[in-house]
Amino acid sequence: MGFRPFIFRLAAQHGLSGWVSNGSDGVRIEVQGSEARLKSFSQAIRENPPPLARIDQLTCRHIPPLAEDGFRIQPSQDQSAHHPVVGPDAALCSACRHELFEPDNRRFAHPFISCVDCGPRYTIIEAVPYDREKTSMNNFDLCPACLREYTAPGDRRFHSQTNCCWDCGPKLCLCDNQRQPIATADPIRAVRQFLKDGKIIAIKGLGGFHLACDATNASALANLRRRKGRGRKPFALMVASLDQARKICQVDPPQAKLLQDPASPIVLLPRLPHSPVSDQVAPNNNYLGLMLPYTGIHHLLLLDSPPLVMTSGNIADQAIIADNDQAFAKLATIADYFLTHDRAIRYRCDDSVARVIDGQNQLLRRSRGYTPQLIDLGRDFPPVLAVGGQMKNTVCFLKADKALLSQHLGDMDNPQAYEFFQQTLEHLGNLLSFEPLAIAHDMHPHYQTTEFAQAMSVPRKIPIQHHQAHIAGCLAEHQALDERIIGLSFDGSGFGPDNCVWGGEVFLGRLPDLRRAAHFDYLPMPGSELAVKEPWRMAVAYLKKTFGPDYRKLDLPLLKKFSDKLPAIDKLIDRRINSPLTSSCGRLFDAVSSLLGLCYFNTFEGEAAITLEMAMTDADSQSYPYNLPCDDHHCYLPDFTPTIKAIVADLAHGLTGSLIAARFHNTIIKLCLDLVAALAADTGITKVVITGGVFQNNFLHSQLKRLLAQNGFHVYANNLTPPNDGGISLGQAVLAGMILQGEDHN
Ligand code: ZN
Ligand code: ZN
Ligand code: FE
Repeated sequence: MGFRPFIFRLAAQHGLSGWVSNGSDGVRIEVQGSEARLKSFSQAIRENPPPLARIDQLTCRHIPPLAEDGFRIQPSQDQSAHHPVVGPDAALCSACRHELFEPDNRRFAHPFISCVDCGPRYTIIEAVPYDREKTSMNNFDLCPACLREYTAPGDRRFHSQTNCCWDCGPKLCLCDNQRQPIATADPIRAVRQFLKDGKIIAIKGLGGFHLACDATNASALANLRRRKGRGRKPFALMVASLDQARKICQVDPPQAKLLQDPASPIVLLPRLPHSPVSDQVAPNNNYLGLMLPYTGIHHLLLLDSPPLVMTSGNIADQAIIADNDQAFAKLATIADYFLTHDRAIRYRCDDSVARVIDGQNQLLRRSRGYTPQLIDLGRDFPPVLAVGGQMKNTVCFLKADKALLSQHLGDMDNPQAYEFFQQTLEHLGNLLSFEPLAIAHDMHPHYQTTEFAQAMSVPRKIPIQHHQAHIAGCLAEHQALDERIIGLSFDGSGFGPDNCVWGGEVFLGRLPDLRRAAHFDYLPMPGSELAVKEPWRMAVAYLKKTFGPDYRKLDLPLLKKFSDKLPAIDKLIDRRINSPLTSSCGRLFDAVSSLLGLCYFNTFEGEAAITLEMAMTDADSQSYPYNLPCDDHHCYLPDFTPTIKAIVADLAHGLTGSLIAARFHNTIIKLCLDLVAALAADTGITKVVITGGVFQNNFLHSQLKRLLAQNGFHVYANNLTPPNDGGISLGQAVLAGMILQGEDHN
């Protein structure tokens, strides 16, 4: 993006003649001039590429001189190149930010300022190739001044499709929640005052609406939680600057770099004590999700402002709202005022969420700023479409040696999110002119995505097991699909072909033929889905498994609290009514969290497990015992009854939750090390994959990775794609692709 104009300007600066063009194999440049100038030209390309460019390789060779003058940008050579999609949305660049605050500039304080290096892309495109006419900028005709910039090859707004100014660009509009306009010459200043007064404002951003309020105002936050029907789930914050971020969180250099990336994700950072940010932003959580302003509107809004809550404009867990009419229809009961504008968002995109772990970036939600960046797979595949799973879903298009992973689409049991899923398949399918050979879907027969795949006209459907998809996705992003691996796939739940709910899975071998080499010992989930929302049920299931029918005699706060419900739970378990068997690691974390009295009911996915991790304020080196039997099929079955027994004993001795939580985490880490060691001894395998939602646990992830590395193992973990179910579709796609290729060879 913006690379050819950059080369043009650079060649002009160096007095070189020649041309630049885009081809399917990359950018080609022919330049002639003195040796010294050519050298400094290529050095400048290497050292100072434009912000949105990534140079993987630069090769130079000498050719005979030509009789020519001047430098030109040649039209693209190959329109059928396999990557015709637009770039991702990019945060306001530093040059534009400078102009925004320059009183003499003709774009001073212009909310829609942008250039070739920044601004919306993916969220405004209707069709390819990316061209103003095919974006939601097509309602705005360039004024003469903007047109001059647009057509001047030396200008930094040459061919900037989003080019506009006060005269010709979109306009802001401030309304109350009855959609009555508020008379003001400066809507942004008015919004800043409303925020100061504790109001909640719906603000149209790049990929959808945000709901904003002052993050230091506890009563505004309480209102927002109540009106939005949001339990204890953390809110993301937008801060004015890196300096402001450093006042509320610990920001080390890699985190600072990530915050300032053109993708401008929400970055999870350890919060500092005594910050002015209200505890209501992220109750019981030691981290805050921060992002920097990424549009002109944000920069103007955050000027001299306290940190703002900037949470997705939606009701509960529905899909983010991007359309003005819908925003007024659905958010009027939440927001007091609306800051909107007249440029349509064609394509919704939530904020991305990322963190730095062991010095490496890791995406937890891959969306705005990343989609539709292609993931390089390092080998070719037939065209496959993967429809993903159920929670935090994404879809994936596999073509040649690249994968396009969609933005975050949400949970498919939500009708709006499911509609968004269908729109995305159609929209991206059109942009890519995609004709799949096969559709990959989850093995679960009743997921909406499975049913959708089954109804598609493509004849070949390939079901993929959930936890194998996690492993394949992780290996795919590391271009390591052919490695023999030991794969730890730990999460909340996924469908197993034995009709059990899997989630503590260890696989062995080389894709696509993995063997299930271990799984957490099965136990019933009393109430099925209800046991996911109510972790106390899993605690009871583990107590009953450990102590037998006498478990009710134990002196535990949990059992007192739910004493009247225990007979019903016993009945569910004893008669195996609505109590599927599970090997889920997430459910074990839930059980322990509840046992310690930390969380009996989840108000958002993973709350009990997160609370258990956050409770761990003291370090401890001890761990609890467990059994590790092996069945007739050489499958290890980790059994935690000794663990639960020891935790109950520690509770009886009055040990703190913090200490028990630490010992429990150590137990899981030790178990993983034991399992890997045993499997490695049998097979000689030295590569280990750690993936699945459980590895979002910072402590577990970093400790295990470090200890495995110390023991000589190479560890693959998710970086570009989320370890949670947001990465499933990539794994489905590559696994299905490998299965198709395997058939061709036979
Ligand atoms: Zn810019
Ligand atoms: Zn203009
Ligand atoms: Fe999963």
